[in-house]
Amino acid sequence: MAASARDVPQATGEQGAFRDKLVAEGLLVPSRVPGVTGQGPVFVDLRQRLDARISKLVADEGAIAMEFPPVEPRHDMESVDYLSSFPQLAGSVFAFLGDEAEALELGEQAHAHQDWSGHLQSAGLVMVPAACHPVYPALARQPVPADGITIDTGAAWVFRHEPSDDPCRLVAFHMRELVRAGSPESVGAWRDTWRDRALAFLQSLGLPAAFDEANDPFFGRTGKVLARSQRAQKLKFEVLVPVGGDNPTAVASFNAHSDHFASVFGLVSEAGPVHTACLGFGIERCVLALLFTHGTDVGGWPSDVLAELSL
Ligand code: AMP
Ligand code: ZN
Repeated sequence: MAASARDVPQATGEQGAFRDKLVAEGLLVPSRVPGVTGQGPVFVDLRQRLDARISKLVADEGAIAMEFPPVEPRHDMESVDYLSSFPQLAGSVFAFLGDEAEALELGEQAHAHQDWSGHLQSAGLVMVPAACHPVYPALARQPVPADGITIDTGAAWVFRHEPSDDPCRLVAFHMRELVRAGSPESVGAWRDTWRDRALAFLQSLGLPAAFDEANDPFFGRTGKVLARSQRAQKLKFEVLVPVGGDNPTAVASFNAHSDHFASVFGLVSEAGPVHTACLGFGIERCVLALLFTHGTDVGGWPSDVLAELSL
């Protein structure tokens, strides 16, 4: 039988102490569900400043701004086989389409905190699990320019069902992505350039950031094979910073997709085959890395870091 609930990883030691301090000082506002975490005024201010600083960083990229809602058509998630690779992370929107009698039953069950999910049907929508996902079908609406194109998603809310007590592992968080589409050579070169630029940027904020090869958390036994193949092909890199856990935390990631999204959504260019890649900043994780590294007394941060964030 399928598990109805997963064990929620607990934050202990240095990570637990950091989480408790953030909550006690009002930087984070917990809810009854782990990973569904609100943010107090200091955290919000830091998040917005960091986002503005990233805008400055990417200004010379000539990226086109595109923003999307936090839900996307279910059909698009199905098309990219997300549910085969990451069923444990996906979130799906179900809605009530019944009559008045059924509504009464639903309301009563909900009021009593009983299981009312049987009254719902798929709304044809899923939660967006990565800011870049809605970009690929949008790019397919016209030919990709011969010299490629970069899209900036802005800081978008995304959803991944991985509830945890770790303050860095959220169920809903902001991800800001640059998405590049173009010829295989130009997309490869773009990713290498941005890997170096993003690492230097995070180091310029005083973060002890390092760079490593990585893999996605593919589901199950076949997932292990997919993860090994992703690593062997060096398709994913991360910038890692210690944030109190046993291992450093990924604050930004670079993914090369080869022609995966391009072929699913039919991206074409007069210059030939189209590849895509993306660079994603986990905005909350970057803020948490700053708070862990420099402390929660923001006024006492090194002056060059304050200057970088216009503080
Ligand atoms: P990914 O698409 O998995 O490479 O994620 C892009 C970035 O989002 C990562 O580098 C992290 O900084 C951030 N991220 C991923 N999962 C989470 C999570 N559960 N909570 C907070 N940030 C996350
Ligand atoms: Zn992406």
